[in-house]
Amino acid sequence: MHERTNNSKMNEETKKDKVLLIYTGGTIGMVQDESGALQPFAMERIYDALPLLHRTDYQIDSCQLERIIDSSNMTPEFWVDIATIIERNYDEYIGFVVLHGTDTMAYTASALSFMFKNLSKPIVLTGSQLPLGMLRSDGRENIICALEIAAGREVVIPEVTVFFENHLYRGNRSTKVSAENFNAFESFNYPSLAKAGIKISYRKHLILPQPTSELKVRKKFDRRIAVLKLFPGITPAVVQSTVRIPDLQGLVIETFGSGNAPTESWFIESLQEAIDRGVIVLNVTQCKAGAVQMRQYQASCDMDRIGVIGGNDITIEAAVTKMMYLLGNFPNEKAKVCDRLSRSLRGEISTELNIEEEDY
Ligand code: ASP
Repeated sequence: MHERTNNSKMNEETKKDKVLLIYTGGTIGMVQDESGALQPFAMERIYDALPLLHRTDYQIDSCQLERIIDSSNMTPEFWVDIATIIERNYDEYIGFVVLHGTDTMAYTASALSFMFKNLSKPIVLTGSQLPLGMLRSDGRENIICALEIAAGREVVIPEVTVFFENHLYRGNRSTKVSAENFNAFESFNYPSLAKAGIKISYRKHLILPQPTSELKVRKKFDRRIAVLKLFPGITPAVVQSTVRIPDLQGLVIETFGSGNAPTESWFIESLQEAIDRGVIVLNVTQCKAGAVQMRQYQASCDMDRIGVIGGNDITIEAAVTKMMYLLGNFPNEKAKVCDRLSRSLRGEISTELNIEEEDY
């Protein structure tokens, strides 16, 4: 368990509502020491770093994971830790902000979105390209806006979201697109839920509805999956060594265009071999925007015939985490896992969402 003894009840005990700020690591939490080296910043001193936060009409408590990480070290165990902190504090807080490294933020946002079924409070992930302690840091804006959104003063967003450089994205639609620009995230297949200018403008019609059933948090992930990115000239050895991984349960193939792949027999036979062994195969496009449409071209007909599932317009981050989540929590229900992969559970793909539906 990575939770550190929490919560610097920072002051302002008189404020009624509280937002919980959870620091997991990444650039945003770094400050420069006297020698100029970057050091993690003690989040309980957030009010020292951002005195303007005293002006909010809600209290901000903070806590951090026991081990602060560069998000390239992210694993499902950390997702469980973050979810556990939120779950334990769910009733006490009106919203949550997770400070996270940008590199894998879209994966964590996607994973959390699946873990929290019937979420009724905002969980906003944010980070920055420059450390909070640097003069030109984008972290200040990002934290302040994320807190405002999590406080839900104007609109309560019952979703896991990513706030970055003026835009609020649905977490499981977001993707990191730049290692350099302040606008480092995009959501190619779904418009942003809100835009921060002089005021924060919410696009209410794009936000998921408030659930009518109780929160359910599921914390299992099956890591026995693989991602196979196709490229022209890929050899049978590469494909076969992936599909033959012992104990493989799920395979995400990143295909071309609208879900196309080589039609050569060795390729289809390799996938068939995996499917016959019970591996679930999901077809996701390498394109940033648009969707897989099985059978639009002949180059996807054979995959459709052998039982490869079309991933529609899902991001690779959401595909990987959804596969791990479904396999982890419903291990003996393969037919349902396959069915749910082609349906929207938390607004991650553009098919009709039926949140009142069964328990996924
Ligand atoms: N490598 C860092 C991380 O993802 C980059 C960042 O924080 O933006 O943790």
